Amino acid sequence: MSELFSLNHKRILVTGSARGIGRLLAQGLAEHGAEVIINSTQQDKSQAVADELNAQGFKAHAVAFDVTDSSAVQKSIDFIEQNIGPIDVLINNAGIQRRHPFCEFPEKDYDDIINVNQKSVFIVSQIVARYMVKRQQGKIINIGSMQSELGRDTITPYAASKGAVKMLTRGMCVELARYNIQVNGIAPGYFKTELTQALVENKEFSDWLCKRTPAARWGNPEELIGAAVFLSSKASDFVNGHLLFVDGGMLAAV
Ligand code: NDP
Repeated sequence: MSELFSLNHKRILVTGSARGIGRLLAQGLAEHGAEVIINSTQQDKSQAVADELNAQGFKAHAVAFDVTDSSAVQKSIDFIEQNIGPIDVLINNAGIQRRHPFCEFPEKDYDDIINVNQKSVFIVSQIVARYMVKRQQGKIINIGSMQSELGRDTITPYAASKGAVKMLTRGMCVELARYNIQVNGIAPGYFKTELTQALVENKEFSDWLCKRTPAARWGNPEELIGAAVFLSSKASDFVNGHLLFVDGGMLAAV
């Protein structure tokens, strides 16, 4: 494998990686040589995924914490840095979705979305970045969404949270580039996971999606691995503040 894209000797923390896109990213990154740290809200679920990866011959650890709880995040990142090793790459992937018409959107759901999708990127990145700054090296990848660019029925708070992730990415890039830290984002289009289960089961939506997307299909979560490998590797050392859309061309089409 070319050194350019190799993740040998890179330790990567992927938040929300016990299932869905995060789980597949962790697998793909491990296959490219990375040591991965699996996270979710539950230690047993995270440990089960780490055990599966270790059984395949990869190097994985499990550290559960709620990405919205700053003191739990601080304790967990300190634990990783002191007992597992330095975090070379952080992937802020944990996210949630709630769907309601705007006039009926419960305030509690709005707050949950903003906390998990947006504020957590600030909390986890700030704590990890303080370690990266000392080492003058690191990469942070924020999982945004194509929805940061579009208005769509029933998901206004989600789209707003991902719009904020886009600007957190740009701002963090500007502030951290001087410490040799690259901050980029990946903005997926529509991928089949638990988060999109209701849409996957909705034939009318699926038909619309296939017509609206130039690639004429849903994305498979494995198709996000290439972007994550690129943005974690030496190949992207001068790529900074960028949001990489992986959406089958949906945003490019009118
Ligand atoms: P899933 O619902 O399949 O998985 C979400 C993951 O996030 C789970 O591992 C979950 O952990 C974790 N998580 C949720 N809340 C927290 C929390 N407070 N603390 C720690 N972990 C948490 O979602 P996807 O895999 O589909 O989505 C992953 C990311 O990709 C999200 O940021 C999402 O917005 C984004 N995305 C997804 C798209 C899609 O089409 N699926 C499209 C565009 C963006 P637990 O198991 O403990 O609940």
